[in-house]
Amino acid sequence: MLSTTAAATSSSRRPTARAVRAATPPIAALRADLLRQRRFRVEQLQRLDTHAARDRKLSTDQRLDEVTIVLQAAANSVLANIDAALDRIDRGTYGTCQRCDTAIPLERLRTLPMIPLCMPCQHDREQTTTPTRQEQEV
Ligand SMILES: [Zn+2]
Repeated sequence: MLSTTAAATSSSRRPTARAVRAATPPIAALRADLLRQRRFRVEQLQRLDTHAARDRKLSTDQRLDEVTIVLQAAANSVLANIDAALDRIDRGTYGTCQRCDTAIPLERLRTLPMIPLCMPCQHDREQTTTPTRQEQEV
């Protein structure tokens, strides 16, 4: 454990939220994070829906619609990734690269909890736009 001088001076009597979170197993914490992000995206999509409806009434500017469509597509894409990650948690395959089967480092999962691929595979996929390409010598 790290030295907690700040915690000792302020509230050492009962566990802080940080201490509780640190005691949670990684997957449970990541799952909670995914659920939180999922809620955020669902709310964002609802807001975009409301805005789009209002914009359509107020103006005929098609660019507003296009911006909304792009934002909705992005939010839906993230939402799909979050749902897929939650599904992997349920199936017990979470934290394993969906392409090469190696374990994804916990640090990476903490930064991007919905990520389905390890760093090299993600990099590979961004280089080649054909996701069905077979693993071969590069
Ligand atoms: Zn991989």
